[in-house]
Amino acid sequence: MLPFAMWWVRHNEKIALRMGRKLSDEELIWAEQIGIAHPEKVRILNVARIPKPVPNLIEKIVNLIGFKTVTPAGMCMRYGIYIKEKYAKEKSLLAHELVHTQQFERLGGLWHFLKIYLKETMILGYANSPLEIEANDTAETILA
Ligand SMILES: [Zn+2]
Repeated sequence: MLPFAMWWVRHNEKIALRMGRKLSDEELIWAEQIGIAHPEKVRILNVARIPKPVPNLIEKIVNLIGFKTVTPAGMCMRYGIYIKEKYAKEKSLLAHELVHTQQFERLGGLWHFLKIYLKETMILGYANSPLEIEANDTAETILA
């Protein structure tokens, strides 16, 4: 699963980096507060639909084992951040995704982040994943 996840994140990151926009001045301030080492690399791509991490077959299997797959409003592919058009103005969502960018950097890149992130969300569930909790808490703090 990890090699697939790596490929998938890298693939989607490339698209966002090519087509997305740079951070605004306000967002650059958030990035600094969050502690992103390379905010200049970040690109935001607004999309009608967030790319799906898993093919339908895998999603069905995952659902069968009892994990709910969510349709997210945003997703962070390291420096490429996808935001659903409908939520493009939601500051808390973008701030949340920027925290994930910082986590990618801090944990040492794609492989290290995904290894921990997948384990956390599979075992503890999305809502209880420490990386997710950190993203929510930090986003809330910088927007307060
Ligand atoms: Zn998140």
